[in-house]
Amino acid sequence: MRVLVIGANGSVGKQAVEKLKASEHEPVAMVRKEEQLSQFEEMGVQTVLADLEKDFEKAYDEIDAVIFAAGSGPNTGPDKTIIIDQEGAIEAIDLAKKNQVERFVLLSSMGADNPKDAEKIKHYLYAKHRADVYLKNSGVDYTIVRPGGLTDDPGTGKVSLEKKQASFGQIPREDVASVLVHLAGKPEAANKQWELIEGDTAISEL
Ligand code: NAP
Repeated sequence: MRVLVIGANGSVGKQAVEKLKASEHEPVAMVRKEEQLSQFEEMGVQTVLADLEKDFEKAYDEIDAVIFAAGSGPNTGPDKTIIIDQEGAIEAIDLAKKNQVERFVLLSSMGADNPKDAEKIKHYLYAKHRADVYLKNSGVDYTIVRPGGLTDDPGTGKVSLEKKQASFGQIPREDVASVLVHLAGKPEAANKQWELIEGDTAISEL
């Protein structure tokens, strides 16, 4: 499958591109700055220069699946969270539908199921919630992964992927990237949603 990674310059996105490149799939890396292109071109990965805040349909040329790993990050205001994490994701889903993409894998967040309960980053969890609901109602085959807190620890290759985790937890970004890539190519992961933290199940056995 040709898999478009939106947010390819991000910590999770970059590792997803690398793992796709090492798999049977073909990544297409979408980045928004000229200087971000060469790292992928040197790996022999097709790149597209496009910005979620502008027209980015050109990124969908012959794309079979999308991994959406973009986010405005903690250093911007709530306006950018709505523009990128919510509206950017929604437009990416619309384009997936228009371009007959077979699977949309959305990197969401634990807590997005019930933002009303949030004590912190409520606007962020509402944005994630809206994007998740929009995807589920879109008619595009979806896989929604809601990780706990992301760390930069090396991946362990083992995780806990549950409909609902009993408690909050953490997970290395590398393992998140591996799970996104693994599930993108798995027919049984269509139209499913999970919470993801570290655990004992080998990602290859998910
Ligand atoms: P990250 O390194 O900040 O990556 C996000 C990427 O989105 C960046 O590469 C950024 O581009 C890109 N982006 C932002 N605005 C864009 C735009 N207008 N057009 C195109 N791309 C754009 O984040 P991460 O650590 O990989 O995490 C990925 C996501 O996981 C987060 O955004 C968050 O939604 C979710 N998450 C995070 C946590 C946590 O504990 N931090 C927990 C659960 C879920 P630039 O590189 O150009 O800035």
